[in-house]
Amino acid sequence: MHAHPDDETIATGALIAEMAARGIRVSLLTATRGEQGEVVRGPLSVLEGTDALTRERERELACAAAALGIGFADRFWLGTPPARAAGLAPRAYRDSGMTWIRPGLAGPADDIDGDALVRAPLAEVTADVAALIGQLRPALVISYDNGGGYGHPDHVRMHEAALAGSRAAGVAFAEVVQVGVDGATSDARGAGAAEWFDLSAHLATVTAALRCHASQLTVDEGGGHIVHSGGQREPIITASGLRLL
Ligand SMILES: [Zn+2]
Repeated sequence: MHAHPDDETIATGALIAEMAARGIRVSLLTATRGEQGEVVRGPLSVLEGTDALTRERERELACAAAALGIGFADRFWLGTPPARAAGLAPRAYRDSGMTWIRPGLAGPADDIDGDALVRAPLAEVTADVAALIGQLRPALVISYDNGGGYGHPDHVRMHEAALAGSRAAGVAFAEVVQVGVDGATSDARGAGAAEWFDLSAHLATVTAALRCHASQLTVDEGGGHIVHSGGQREPIITASGLRLL
């Protein structure tokens, strides 16, 4: 369960590829269409701030999910049935945006849209998540840790809703443990031990999926890095930890 298009690939692409390779069915829930994100400078720059960017990011997500082995019928948008609580009209949750507090740690944006994910009541978001869980009846739900990986408010909100929705449905929940910019893992916060997976065999698959997200990032293949639209470099993740909560 992710907040924006590209998170599934950046944070969990290798994990998804591993599960697909093991024959495990993976379903992907994405909360927003990344409307507030910047656009990589180049031919797609004209899309920034337009509705066309929304469509482009939907297309990019479809491309990446297919590359990772997620079927068309296993992709879901939060607020759209079956990821919508019974009796409520479908809605779109919008990207809440973010600002950098310091390298590697994000905080709330100055200007937050009225339809933003963080403005929605947690109970509504949780009910939508629970509706999808009830439909799919997965063995395990996976989402961010309680810090949202790097603090993005939408990631934190998805952690809260995914955990609460899983608890409500009686389904196991695991958070993704990441390595921070300082090399420390979020594991160091003192919670239970995580199980780590070496997923380097999936580098080519993850790289192919990353290339789908051309409006958000570029791939420095030789260096094994991605470069975000804002210029931040980040290693391509090929090891992940999962911690059951
Ligand atoms: Zn994100």
